[in-house]
Amino acid sequence: MSNASESVIPVEVARIALKKLSERGLPPTPENYTKFYNAIATIKSPNAKTSFETLQAWQLLYKVEDILGEMGDSAEQLLCTLAGGGEAMSASLGQLQDTRRAHLELGASTDDTHFKLESLLNSIINSTSELHSSVSASSVDLQSIRDSISNIEQDLAVNRQILEQDALTGAMNRQGFDNRLVREAKLAQRHNHQLSAALFDLDDFKLVNDRFGHGVGDNVLIHIAGLAKSVLRDTDILVRYGGEEFLILLVETDMNGARYVLERLQQMCRRNPFMYKQQRLEITFSTGIAALRSDENGRALVLRADEALYIAKRNGRGLIEMAE
Ligand code: GH3
Ligand code: MG
Ligand code: MG
Repeated sequence: MSNASESVIPVEVARIALKKLSERGLPPTPENYTKFYNAIATIKSPNAKTSFETLQAWQLLYKVEDILGEMGDSAEQLLCTLAGGGEAMSASLGQLQDTRRAHLELGASTDDTHFKLESLLNSIINSTSELHSSVSASSVDLQSIRDSISNIEQDLAVNRQILEQDALTGAMNRQGFDNRLVREAKLAQRHNHQLSAALFDLDDFKLVNDRFGHGVGDNVLIHIAGLAKSVLRDTDILVRYGGEEFLILLVETDMNGARYVLERLQQMCRRNPFMYKQQRLEITFSTGIAALRSDENGRALVLRADEALYIAKRNGRGLIEMAE
């Protein structure tokens, strides 16, 4: 039970776990309870804390970047205004000088005000030009700060990817997925796009471990994850949802589209069996598919896919079941 992530409320998970046990008519033995609890709770990454800090660092960086962006924009505006003002004043000075010259040529006397005005304008122009240079210098400084921030962001992106990846299969881990699911569900709702979740669980995987050993079991998981990646589009997300359970989040895809992808994966598994000492290991999986409703969030979507997966198991394994 130490597997519960800090991002989920244990009491809530326990409630769902108990509900599911009773729905399935299973006795609430500690073993059954633990299994359901862990299946529902986020599998806690050993780096959960670091990941949280990374997220906070992101938020902070975004904020700093916003502020710098605004400062940069204002500096640019100021530069434009100063340059414009400088030009306008130079033009006025030119006109003033022209008028004085014309007066002189006509033999008319020019009064003192003219000179004063000229020298005043001259000194304003000089100050404006100095101001322009110093704003321009700060603007260069600002840009270099923005460049450094963008470098830090790139480092963080790499860090984040590592933290959100399952080390064995390279699929996204539960922690990464929980962050992502909220965003994808909101996006789909906002833009009225389809979003489907397919949850699949390898059948009788315990037998594979029992017969061939845990190491072979691990390699089977890597093999299946590789096949799954090969049938997905770049925008789809493969998640190691639990031990031998994977989830595929298919963006802009309805239930039929998702079924098609999962049938392709079944086909791929048949055509590319895992080989152990020249022996074919027939690996099948059961799948539950659900499409996001307009009135539900991502978590509810996954729960419905899980319900459908349970029916696929109950109906004989190796099957794909669609949620209502
Ligand atoms: P079902 O068809 O009902 O899903 O049967 P099952 O045997 O696949 O399911 P069960 O939940 O009884 O057992 C899951 C097995 O998956 C047991 C566990 O040791 C194994 N497993 C989970 N994670 C890993 C892993 O990372 N590596 C290996 N090798 N085995 C794993
Ligand atoms: Mg299984
Ligand atoms: Mg399982």
